Amino acid sequence: MFDYLIVGAGFAGSVIAERLANEAGKTVLIIDTRNHIGGNAYDHYDDHGILVHKYGPHIFHTNSRQVFEYLSRFTEWRPYEHRVLASVDGQLLPIPINLNTVNELYGLNLTSFEVEDFFAKVAEPKDYIRTSEDVVVSKVGRELYEKFFRNYTRKQWGMDPSELDNSVIARVPTRTNRDDRYFTDTYQAMPLHGYTRMFEKMLSHPNIKVMLNTDYREIEGFIPYGEMIYTGPVDTYFNYCYGKLPYRSLEFKHETLNVPVHQKAPVVNYPNEHLYTRCTEFKYLTGQEHQKTSIVYEYPQAEGDPYYPVPRPENAEIYKKYKALADATPGVSFVGRLATYKYYNMDQVVAQALTTYKQITTKPVIELVE
Ligand code: FAD
Ligand code: UDP
Repeated sequence: MFDYLIVGAGFAGSVIAERLANEAGKTVLIIDTRNHIGGNAYDHYDDHGILVHKYGPHIFHTNSRQVFEYLSRFTEWRPYEHRVLASVDGQLLPIPINLNTVNELYGLNLTSFEVEDFFAKVAEPKDYIRTSEDVVVSKVGRELYEKFFRNYTRKQWGMDPSELDNSVIARVPTRTNRDDRYFTDTYQAMPLHGYTRMFEKMLSHPNIKVMLNTDYREIEGFIPYGEMIYTGPVDTYFNYCYGKLPYRSLEFKHETLNVPVHQKAPVVNYPNEHLYTRCTEFKYLTGQEHQKTSIVYEYPQAEGDPYYPVPRPENAEIYKKYKALADATPGVSFVGRLATYKYYNMDQVVAQALTTYKQITTKPVIELVE
């Protein structure tokens, strides 16, 4: 008899497993359909001995000291600030759009003040920023929107930015200075020995048993447990009773090249060319030295493993119904990117998992009054 069955060994499931075992002294069975722990953050050494991220580039960044300190119990860090170039009009230009992007694109020599005026002239102000198109067009105008965002988004999501919530493209800011970092969070670092090593440390406790290659539905009824933590897709849990929630998928094409360096930046985005959205060269992320280099291309797909919830109003409506059902399901907590249908980064999932852990372990005890 386990106190908890945890479905999914990604960030959501592993953080809660670790807390339940280490702090609350509970017994945990954590189970995953995949043949590894770590969920989408899983990394491994490929056939050439290069550390790669199986499910695309995972860069850790957070403003939460609590999350950073929590994870620091299981890993040392390699300081790393992420940078991305976008292939636009035959040039490789820094994204997020910043002063250098505009100057290089148009062959100008503007200052920060001047680029503010430039944006003000081309921007199309909106009273209400509803969609992802509104976010960009209202800040930098239609031309930059079309060069950097429109086609990338159509490829990535299979729909126009005007059909997606503002939150999607709002992930990528616009700057008037020369800061070309992809993120500006206080803590930006990569786990020194990789994500999987960090997950191994989190799950290494006598109270935690890990079962891989298994869907939880295969063991239900055979292995007794008290409560469940579910981190898979919420619509699957409820047998799609309100219909399918769309999740966007990707196909990852990994390659190893017989050269030490392949491209000019850790990630190169291709808004307007190719079927893939971006190409990542892992050695930039990990700092590994090797005479070869491994890269991955991401090809967006409608079908396949669920990777991204699709933030738009009609999906929020469907999710609301599943959420009501989830809240009314005793003994099961729904946590993580798929189970709460939120476009969360890793740190947000860790924060959500720590909060859920607190909630489940501080449940009010109902006392019977005579
Ligand atoms: P997951 O990692 O998806 O884990 C859920 C697990 O549940 C899976 O392993 C799945 O196999 C298992 N499961 C599902 N159903 C069942 C079942 N029925 N039985 C058993 N097991 C089941 N975040 C960042 O902060 N920085 C980044 O740079 C970044 N890059 C990303 C790039 C890509 C391409 C993607 C897709 C995501 C990226 N993320 C990034 C987001 C990050 O991957 C997630 O926030 C995080 O991994 C979510 O953790 P999770 O535990 O909620 O879900
Ligand atoms: N985006 C874009 N062009 C870019 C980079 C991002 O249009 O060069 C848009 C696109 O819609 C993307 C979203 O901004 O899905 C969020 O980008 P981010 O890099 O955060 O995506 P993720 O790493 O989560 O795939």
